[in-house]
Amino acid sequence: MVHDSESKVYETFTIIADKIYSIGGSEAISNFSINVKVFDKPTGTWLEPVVLGTKPVARNGYSSFLIDNERALILLKESSHDNSIWFLEVDTPFVKQKRKQLGAEVVAWSKGLLGHGSKPIVISGPSGVGKGTLIAKLMKEFPSTFGFSVSHTTRAPREHELNGVHYHFTERSKMEKDIQDGKFLESALVHGNLYGTSIEAVEAVSDVGKRCILDIDVQGARSVRASPLEATFIFVRPPSFEELEKRLRARGTEAEEQIQKRLTNARAELEQAESNGLFDHLLINDELESCYQNLKKLLALDETDREPSQPSMKSFMVPFSHSTSKADKKVIIHCGINGMSASSSSTKLILDWALLKGGAPGRTRGLNLYTTNL
Ligand code: ADP
Ligand code: 5GP
Repeated sequence: MVHDSESKVYETFTIIADKIYSIGGSEAISNFSINVKVFDKPTGTWLEPVVLGTKPVARNGYSSFLIDNERALILLKESSHDNSIWFLEVDTPFVKQKRKQLGAEVVAWSKGLLGHGSKPIVISGPSGVGKGTLIAKLMKEFPSTFGFSVSHTTRAPREHELNGVHYHFTERSKMEKDIQDGKFLESALVHGNLYGTSIEAVEAVSDVGKRCILDIDVQGARSVRASPLEATFIFVRPPSFEELEKRLRARGTEAEEQIQKRLTNARAELEQAESNGLFDHLLINDELESCYQNLKKLLALDETDREPSQPSMKSFMVPFSHSTSKADKKVIIHCGINGMSASSSSTKLILDWALLKGGAPGRTRGLNLYTTNL
């Protein structure tokens, strides 16, 4: 049975199967955060779920309601449109996956994005093939389009590497605990060190409206492919194994033992990447400039994934009087826009979630917002 209710106080109750989700509560008023508790009917107990994803800050209150069996829509009051639409996922595939992994009750936040947004790009390839070089060129040419997902690693920083920019350099025990606590989208043991993409790293890029680039190994790419994060997967291969070895040595960042380890792993990665259809695109990094042009071309092929222009409405004055039409997958918001009060305007906003895509970890895309005077 599915049921939801709206309320003028900052708390809603949503019932899905044998669980009751309490979203909000009186504490929310003092610290602006939206608390979530889960009542498990069979055992008659309240559970504190593991809450994944960046939490919204609701300074002026919010309104929430269930839109399907998997998630509730939360509208923050008097917030700019790029921060007013949030989803609390209670039973999406991502939440189910994490619940199973963690053996605990889980909910996940995901910010709503107007338009179709853009899929993250996963770039894999053997060490020394030139992934970092290609990504750096892309970010330099399109600084406002692409953002790098800063991974965590237990390996020591190289001379030029900055903490928080190239990697979050981390203690192994801390990283293992964070993986246990569900903070990572994926993680893998690579060349003897632990590497991983935190959910926060992907969200940090999405939250500034950029297209996220992940530089991860083939194991990581496989994990992301198996996760609900939709992405474009690119594998970069060298023109020859000899050339790969030459580049790895010329880079001069690894000791001989590490070079040997990386070369051994390279053979396996090349085999795996080409045999199992994991990647959408294969690029050969022979001559750097032509490879870079090919990379740009194939990203342009994904033109449909690019961010369309956003509606011009700057603020989203959500009062607690809106109506939902779940059959049409729409919410009608009786509200003022750009400072007009609800009473002085007959304008209504329609938020349409029929084409909803993506979700935690990262943004929920495909939302459409338009006005009506009817
Ligand atoms: P990765 O990030 O895949 O480990 P890097 O981007 O660090 O690889 O590149 C390894 C080395 O190869 C660097 O010294 C880089 O300057 C060099 N390199 C990258 N692409 C090319 C290329 N097409 N031709 C020659 N050298 C290259
Ligand atoms: P390096 O030590 O040369 O920076 O990276 C070694 C390998 O680790 C590269 O293949 C790189 O793609 C991979 N790597 C970097 N960050 C991550 C991550 O977050 N997850 C996974 N699975 N691999 C990563």
